[in-house]
Amino acid sequence: MSVDALYQEIILDHYKHPRGKGLLGDSLAESFQVNPTCGDEVTVQVAGSAADVLIGYEGQGCSISQASASVMSEMLNGASVATMKEKRDAFIELMHAKGLGEPDEEILEDGVAFAGVAKYPARVKCALLPWMALQDAAIKAGLITEEKS
Ligand code: ZN
Repeated sequence: MSVDALYQEIILDHYKHPRGKGLLGDSLAESFQVNPTCGDEVTVQVAGSAADVLIGYEGQGCSISQASASVMSEMLNGASVATMKEKRDAFIELMHAKGLGEPDEEILEDGVAFAGVAKYPARVKCALLPWMALQDAAIKAGLITEEKS
């Protein structure tokens, strides 16, 4: 199996079997984001504390956007804010690498599967949508203060 086919499998698996999907009963903040060019929608909620961030999400749309939300949830649920930022930065960097990035599996986990997606600018928006929602929700919740990465 080629790396591209393997990555495709990982994305489809997250799309069909989303990890951690569902909204939290009680959240500090939430953010609803849409990607009008593709019709993707995602709501991300954050709860917990800076040492232990909890993430809930709901959404609908293409396989890339929904799989990205699932991967994000799996990577970041229960992580500290510092880890969250590190992993988020690594994912955003990968998505801006135009397919030439060399993803670090230690940091990105199943996020590496999006390496090939970065070749397609329209798809990059799909993949980043849940991460933008997380960023917005985390700022609203006071967990992070920066405006934008
Ligand atoms: Zn999409």
